[in-house]
Amino acid sequence: MKSTRRSFLKGIGAGVLALSLGHMGFSLKEAHAYARSLKIEGAKEVHSVCPFCAVCCQIIAHVKDGQLISTEGDPDFPINEGSLCAKGASLYSMYTGKHGRILKPQYRAPGSDHWEEKDWDWTLTEIAKRIKKTRDEDMILKNEKGQTVNRLETIFWMGTSHASNEECACIQEALKGLGIASLDHQARV
Ligand code: SF4
Repeated sequence: MKSTRRSFLKGIGAGVLALSLGHMGFSLKEAHAYARSLKIEGAKEVHSVCPFCAVCCQIIAHVKDGQLISTEGDPDFPINEGSLCAKGASLYSMYTGKHGRILKPQYRAPGSDHWEEKDWDWTLTEIAKRIKKTRDEDMILKNEKGQTVNRLETIFWMGTSHASNEECACIQEALKGLGIASLDHQARV
């Protein structure tokens, strides 16, 4: 059997635990029963990659009955050695949305003090209308030297660290196509 850093650490951990508990007079039967009831018991391990940045930390996803039940850093992967930053560590909660993740567009009208839930059709149409209006009014085609710049300075884009590499690339190309030059990323701020 191929011995990996992970299986080695698992073995050491189990050995130390068994030795300590045995010496302290605890029943190992109970410990084994508890271990069997652990959340990932019987789950399939699927190796994957965190999608959130170019570091590409490797993760282990546990899947049981076709459902994702946990994600964790892969200790055998040389880049992250089991660790994940806050974004990678939140992968499971982002996927399951059990911790108050907002699933529908929220809109706060000008001057309003509260958010309203809107559907995607309304939201996307409203965004498109406002971008078009702003672009029609403010697009700068040439600078003071007469050089073509095709620049839109009145829209700023703030990206989210929960966009994947691929999503960020697509968003950036779309923004450039609109002439938007001011963009930043929440993870950098
Ligand atoms: S977002 Fe964090 S966990 Fe994910 S690949 Fe980048 S550094 Fe690793």
